[in-house]
Amino acid sequence: MSKNEDLFEKSFNCPVCGYKFKALKVRSRKIRVTHRDPDGCAHFIGENPYFYNISICPECGYAATEDRFESIGFERKEIITERITPNWQKRDINRERDIEDAINTHKIALHQALITDDTRQYIGLLAMFLAWLYRYIEDTKNERKFLEYALDNFQKSYESEAFTKSFPIERCAFLIGEIFNTFKKYDDAVKWYNIALEHSSLNPGMEKQIRERWQIVSQARRRE
Ligand SMILES: [Zn+2]
Repeated sequence: MSKNEDLFEKSFNCPVCGYKFKALKVRSRKIRVTHRDPDGCAHFIGENPYFYNISICPECGYAATEDRFESIGFERKEIITERITPNWQKRDINRERDIEDAINTHKIALHQALITDDTRQYIGLLAMFLAWLYRYIEDTKNERKFLEYALDNFQKSYESEAFTKSFPIERCAFLIGEIFNTFKKYDDAVKWYNIALEHSSLNPGMEKQIRERWQIVSQARRRE
């Protein structure tokens, strides 16, 4: 049990090997956001919930974000069993994590997403979190590398994948716009904000957010 009261243990049942384990997560009432970057990256006082995004089975090495952990299909299970587990050094990395653990666990999940041919949107989101983790430690080279990778995957996702309520298509378009904005490619950013605004599934909160960003970025573009 962790002595850190901001964290709690959540129980998992590994869908690949059946092993039961516990992973630490941040209590939602203890999450304190100080501010957010335009692309959505939050900065926290105290424990950072991003560090605990990935749950990893200590027994077989299967790793995924909490919301997807249990929903792995038969084919992906087989790939984990055949290609991950034989090389997995059994260990528990679900305890208190530092930034290095956070980066490593996201890289493990990203590697598994790639070899199991997971969706571009999931790969893009993992890459985006990796970029943000590198941003915290001011490693701009790796931040840019993973932002570019996220951008590429989100663009491919937008063209070819189905979207869900938890990650709607306008959110994908908006994130593409935000990454272009981070790269100071304002024309592309505005183009993608406009694409996001065209989607009828857009909710009023998201529309307001995009219109605000559209204004700020349009002004930046005019100053160039
Ligand atoms: Zn397992």
